[in-house]
Amino acid sequence: MLVTRAEPHAAHQNPSGCLGRDRWLRLEQSRVQSIIRACPPYRRPPVTHPQPKTLPKAAAAAMATQTFLLAPPAALFAAPSSSARPFHSLRLVAGPGSAARALVVADATKKAVAVLKGTSEVEGVVTLTQDDEGPTTVSVRVTGLTPGLHGFHLHEFGDTTNGCISTGPHFNPNNMTHGAPEDEVRHAGDLGNIVANAEGVAEATIVDSQIPLTGPNSVVGRAFVVHELEDDLGKGGHELSLSTGNAGGRLACGVVGLTPL
Ligand SMILES: [Zn+2]
Repeated sequence: MLVTRAEPHAAHQNPSGCLGRDRWLRLEQSRVQSIIRACPPYRRPPVTHPQPKTLPKAAAAAMATQTFLLAPPAALFAAPSSSARPFHSLRLVAGPGSAARALVVADATKKAVAVLKGTSEVEGVVTLTQDDEGPTTVSVRVTGLTPGLHGFHLHEFGDTTNGCISTGPHFNPNNMTHGAPEDEVRHAGDLGNIVANAEGVAEATIVDSQIPLTGPNSVVGRAFVVHELEDDLGKGGHELSLSTGNAGGRLACGVVGLTPL
């Protein structure tokens, strides 16, 4: 009988012609790798890969929702890098009539801030908040002023290399003349006057639709300026009334920058 080197002797084979259990185990222990046959109960089980379980539809939908919440699309946030915190927040609500509780984007809020400084003791902080495409709410607190009215405007440039002078003219994307905040003809940056009390503190909340925080007329990167004098809102008859409201010198200014919510 012809027996190959690795093939077990016929005496160790059972009548079916394959290896008996004890012989097969000994061959295994002696590291013989080229066994030609082994009885079916002692063959190595085939290698199988577990198949993924099929999720119920509701569970799959829930997972998809979870994925959306954990990894919102980058385009919605426009965050410049993974280390930057997003400046926008999303308010997510359940869609009407959705059994799977699908979520939709209902709102986005932007917030910005400007810190006003000048060459005198006048200083202040201005915060801006805008919900979705709505008006911008501006909260102002300036200290160190003389009591009374002071012109308060958004100027075109966020450039303070030459102090408040280099912030340029009032922000005026629609090429209008100077006016009051409630006028149809006005600079977008015309926010009227703030009023300082006897302690020289001016606090105001202004809601305005011409100073958005996104889009082509965004005021992010431009500058607030608080002026020495009252803004005559274009009605003073002075040669500067229709350009600056004749509000005098620039006491303090600050560049608008995005801030976390
Ligand atoms: Zn103006």
